[in-house]
This record gives sequence, C-alpha cells and structure tokens, in this order.
Amino acid sequence: MYRIGQEEIDAVAKVIRTKDFFKINDSLHEAENAEEDMKKLFNVKHAIMMTSGHGALTSALIAMGVGPGDEVIVPAYTYIATAMAVVAAGAMPVMAEADETLTISPEDVEKKITKNTKAIVPVHIQGFPCNMDAIMEIAKKHNLMVLEDACQADGGMFRGKRLGTIGDAGALSFNYYKIVSAGEGGALLTNDKTIFDRALIYHDSSAVAYFGDQLSDVDSMLFCGNEYRANEILSAIMREQFKRMDGILKDLRANKKYLMDALADVCEFAPSNDIEGDCGTTLPISFESYESACAFAAAEGINGSVPYDTGKHVYKNWTPIMTKTGALNPLMDPFKMEANKDIVPDYSEDMCPKTLDILSKTAYININPDWTKAELDKMVENVKKALNK
Ligand SMILES: *Cc1c(COP(=O)(O)O)cnc(C)c1O
Repeated sequence: MYRIGQEEIDAVAKVIRTKDFFKINDSLHEAENAEEDMKKLFNVKHAIMMTSGHGALTSALIAMGVGPGDEVIVPAYTYIATAMAVVAAGAMPVMAEADETLTISPEDVEKKITKNTKAIVPVHIQGFPCNMDAIMEIAKKHNLMVLEDACQADGGMFRGKRLGTIGDAGALSFNYYKIVSAGEGGALLTNDKTIFDRALIYHDSSAVAYFGDQLSDVDSMLFCGNEYRANEILSAIMREQFKRMDGILKDLRANKKYLMDALADVCEFAPSNDIEGDCGTTLPISFESYESACAFAAAEGINGSVPYDTGKHVYKNWTPIMTKTGALNPLMDPFKMEANKDIVPDYSEDMCPKTLDILSKTAYININPDWTKAELDKMVENVKKALNK
C-alpha cells in the first residue's frame, strides 16, 4: 500500500455508523458499489470483490472447470499462492521458466503443454506485464483457458488493456503488499458470464448471500462452494483506494522512468514486455553474478533485494508443493488422487535452471510514488556509488 488517509477513515466511519457490515444489506451497498467501480475502472463485464487474491484465483480455476486430471501451467517465479490455487482446485501445477523480463516464458509454456493441460496462469509479477499477445496466441492454438494473476499489478496494462482483463479471467489482490490495499482483499475480473456465475457460487458458500437478480441465473447450477465473501468495510476502503490507483501508478511510472533515464549509461535493466503498462513498482537491474547483485542490493541507500532470495516467490521454496503435500487428509490430496495418478509432476530443485539463473543475477530497487526530485537524485547518486564498488 502506498497511500491512505482521511478519505478511507471517513468511508469506514460511514459504514460503522450503519452497523450493517454484511455484503448484502440495506444500507450503503459498498461491496456492490466497489464491484461497479471495478467494472468501470478495469473496463470489464463482471467483477467480484473477495477476501483475498488466492480466493479469486481458486474461484476462477473452479469456475473454468479445472480439477483433478488437469495440469495448469504456472511460472516458476511467482508467489506460492498461484500454485496453491491450482492444488486447491484439485489440479497439478506445472512450472514454466521465467524469461529475461522476469515473467513467464511463452516459449517454455508451449514446451510444457501436454494432453492434460487445461489452463495457463501468467503472473504479472512485481507489476511487470507478461507478454499477453504470445500467451493468448498459444492458448488459442491449444484450446486452453488463461487466468491472469494480476495480484502484484493492480491497474497495470498490456498494450492499453488492464492486466487481469485480457485472459478468460483475472485475479487482483488487495493485501498489505499490493499497489492498492485494505490489508487483505482481492477480486475476480472476467468478461465470461459462465465463469462469473460459477465463481459467484463458489466464493460464497454456494451463493447464500445472493438473492434476486444475481441468483436467478445460477439457481439451477448450484454446487458446494467455499467462503471468500467481502464485507462492507473492506469494500469501502477499496472504493477510496481505487480512486487513488491511477495516480499512484502515474507517479510510480514517472519515478521509475526518471531513474532509468538517469542511469541508462551505467546499468543494464531487465527488458519489459510493455514499459508503458508496467506498474513502475520495481526497477530490475541485471548483473554478471549473484554475488554482484547481492552486493548491490545491500549497498548503502539502495534498500534493494535479489529476487532469488525472496523466499516463497521462487518455486524451489514452495515446500508443500515440492514435497507433494496437497492436503492434510490424503484422500483430499490432489497429489495422491486416482485422477492425477499419471500426471503428478516430477518436481526438483533444479527443474527451472534458467529462472534460477535470471533471479540470481537481478537486483530490484523498490520505487516509491512519493519520492521528491531530491530523493530521486539521491537514489541516482547511491546507485552510481554502489555500482562503482
Ligand atoms: C499476493 C499474491 C497472491 C495472493 O494474494 P492474497 O490476497 O494474499 O491471497 C497471489 N499471487 C501473487 C503473485 C501475489 O503476489
């Protein structure tokens, strides 16, 4: 989260005064309003406010009909929640390499497709847009669903379209780490009515909160769901955060561009699939070795990080996945299910060597949208100093 203030305080106070926090109530309808806000802001037909990005990813996969017997391709570099959503749907996550852009390699995605592949989950990691043209083309050719994980890229774009609205469905996250935030929260975006209806059922213990118009269509298709329903306080905060979103992105991008222009002669930046649509949260700098990337990230005034060392963002650290522990009860564990018997992947630490190589030779600078020109100039100076060492 970058910006929060009086507007969020007032919005929450207004909800509290109604003493009516449930999503479907007779007062402010903030969850419904937030969903309308998202439909406009993201230019998408359907939006569902939820309690988490993981909930949105899982609901989308379930709604796409993904389940036991299916393989779903995810990047080897993403937060573990992406792969866990696949397991939550009963399917098998298959990791594809990241390329120089740090996003999923379309070339490797194509290599990982088998007769069991049902969907691809491109992840716009650190706000870097995936090559959605290439992904959509592959999906069309092989008749696969595409679920965009835009959890780290709220509001970002690829070729003028919002991330999360290009594939069959998209997931946003509003947890503490994200571009806009209510501490926790998420949303599902889709233009597909069937995915919307099924996700509505799944995210809300089979649509208990929906009466009237929204339920009329889904009455005949009910199945047992989960519980990721948003409340009015979360929704009220997010409505204010959405108003700030494009301003935050504009300032992040401007600050990233300022640093890139000032440092163009001294650094090599990781390439972008669309620098205009990039969220600007992160400046990725390429190095010759892991040691030099680490030394740079730790240098004075950089406050950087090396993506190789970002724990559960790297596949080799996804312990429950790597050890194939998909559930506490073995009968509910997709890795042990009869339907998956022939497709359980052979995970190993070195299965995606290109990803590990790129992640180990990159350092990130986290951009702040509120840096002043003096602070930006200081960062330029710090980077030059760190590189000279
Ligand atoms: C944060 C995140 C998620 C999950 O979001 P939650 O809201 O914490 O459930 C999923 N994927 C990626 C890439 C994320 O960064």
